[in-house]
Amino acid sequence: MLGKENRIITVANQKGGVGKTTTAINLATALAAIGERVLIIDFDPQGNASTGLGIERHERVLSSYHIMVGEAGIAEAAMETDVPHLSIVPSTMDLLGVEMEISDQKDRVFKLKKAIAAFGEDTYDYILIDCPPSLNLLTINAMAAAHSVLVPLQCEFFALEGLSQLLETVGQVRSTLNPNLDIQGIVMTMFDSRNNLAQQVVDDVRSYLGDKVYRTLIPRNVRVSEAPSYGKPAILYDLRCSGSQAYLKLASEVIQRERERKAA
Ligand code: ADP
Ligand code: MG
Repeated sequence: MLGKENRIITVANQKGGVGKTTTAINLATALAAIGERVLIIDFDPQGNASTGLGIERHERVLSSYHIMVGEAGIAEAAMETDVPHLSIVPSTMDLLGVEMEISDQKDRVFKLKKAIAAFGEDTYDYILIDCPPSLNLLTINAMAAAHSVLVPLQCEFFALEGLSQLLETVGQVRSTLNPNLDIQGIVMTMFDSRNNLAQQVVDDVRSYLGDKVYRTLIPRNVRVSEAPSYGKPAILYDLRCSGSQAYLKLASEVIQRERERKAA
């Protein structure tokens, strides 16, 4: 356990459908399963992380929207999930309008950071922020609030396309809003071992990004894609499936990196 020093990890990639939400949910569940206290902040108006953790729309009374406009604190908005030690600040479509609503406010990029700071650092060991598929004000808020960025990349031909823009944005946030922002790591998702191209893509990404890429590859696995419709993380839906096992491995790599960072 990390004790008072929590870690805030933003899961980001401006491409949709690359596995951000799946990674946020299952990494969070894996961390919670070993006793870490984890909060997911659903920062995508689509609310897929909320749905995937079984939070029905009518239950989402206070959401990340209310955090962003200052109408609720994180402690009030956070809801428990069926996973012990895992809570979520849900999101709703209201979040779509937030950029306009706060556009004239000076501290608009620091709304989330301030909200996290306001509720104290010792409630959770990990806070994972599930970003929308965009480099918009929400994602910038998430990067400004985080210690590190975790980037899911889908194992497909165009995996690297857009990555330089994402890394540039991380660089800009680091030089202006958040000097300590780090890359937690790059996780390759939806790997299909029967597809020769997939291995080629992994090799290319590794040669470009080196050991920032996690050793764990998340396989394409139908059980992982079924789980959200039951409102469950894959790890609860089917612990034995290859996808769940991979996410458990990923969690141990994340923890290992955190240990190394602390020791450094
Ligand atoms: P994002 O949040 O980046 O838009 P998602 O996590 O929602 O991406 O994933 C996009 C789609 O791919 C979803 O339908 C999800 O269930 C599916 N998916 C994600 N990871 C896997 C996987 N490892 N195996 C099979 N399907 C997956
Ligand atoms: Mg998503």
